[in-house]
Amino acid sequence: ASSDALTPLAPAEVLQRADVALGRAKSTDNCHLVIFDQRLHEDEIERARLQGELRVALKNDELTLFFQPIVQTSTGRVTGVEALLRWLPVGKPPIPPSVFIPAAEQSELITLIDDWVIDRACRHLSSWADDDRTAGLTMSINVSGRHMANDELPRTVERALRRSNADPGKLIVEVTETELIPNLEKAVQIFGQLRALGVRLAIDDFGTGYASVAHLRRVDFDRIKIDRSFVAAIDDATERSLGSLLVSLGRNLDLDVVAEGVETPEQLEWARSAGCTHIQGFLYARPVPVAELGAELERLRRPHRAVAPGR
Ligand code: C2E
Ligand code: CA
Ligand code: CA
Repeated sequence: ASSDALTPLAPAEVLQRADVALGRAKSTDNCHLVIFDQRLHEDEIERARLQGELRVALKNDELTLFFQPIVQTSTGRVTGVEALLRWLPVGKPPIPPSVFIPAAEQSELITLIDDWVIDRACRHLSSWADDDRTAGLTMSINVSGRHMANDELPRTVERALRRSNADPGKLIVEVTETELIPNLEKAVQIFGQLRALGVRLAIDDFGTGYASVAHLRRVDFDRIKIDRSFVAAIDDATERSLGSLLVSLGRNLDLDVVAEGVETPEQLEWARSAGCTHIQGFLYARPVPVAELGAELERLRRPHRAVAPGR
């Protein structure tokens, strides 16, 4: 259904368009039919451009990790941080991960990026052990579901841990729930290998995957992270009940339950009363560069911070 459907195309052009549609079909889970159109063509060009720039960015050190504190509900203390990737191109506005991670996931670039993140995160984790403000914190990292389809991940994590001498028990690997579904069997195997290294595991965006219970039966997780969409929608009675149900599910299985995206005192109150063990969100802290993390942790330790737990 091309916009120029009436203009005859050269055979090479037809093949090239078929190739674009085939590429899209292959890279989309559970998708068997893709029809070429101009929009698809433009998306492909944009994606290829992003991928090219990202390759250069990796080489030029334009990627960096920001860290967002995660607070324990019962004590109000920061017990860990999540590493969140940022692309800061020189002289241009930052590019958010929601833009470049999907582009990277359609190529081998995502493996390079995840490897870089794992290595960096382990090095930070190891160096933090010597600083009073950061000693004992857990480090959560995000790993693409694409990684769940190959055996490299456990080896990469093992190498990074060995090189950095970081404590495996402080490393938490997060994988989003929807990304577990296409390859559950393989994921179970890879998670087993990660566990054997002493690493902890978390399901991210929990509640969005339509198969939450099935996942909990198959994989030995330590933590679930209740998706931000539930926290944002607690004014709605149904959403609120569903969110609370997911929290109870996790607590009954003796898992850590993190409420993501807590922005308001009302959402904090809901998370506490529903039984979340940890809170993450702008209400406490935004993701910050490593140079600002120490000050951020000190601010969160002071009793007179913006919002004290329990208020
Ligand atoms: P995520 O793993 O669910 O990360 C949480 C996202 O929520 C982050 O967005 C964080 O900045 C944002 N957030 C935290 N608290 C709040 C809040 O109170 N309100 C709102 N509105 N947002 C909040 P970010 O950093 O843009 O990351 C987006 C996604 O990109 C992440 O979602 C994760 O799936 C992916 N990502 C980030 N870093 C990496 C990485 O190193 N590797 C991989 N593979 N994916 C990554
Ligand atoms: Ca995450
Ligand atoms: Ca999440």
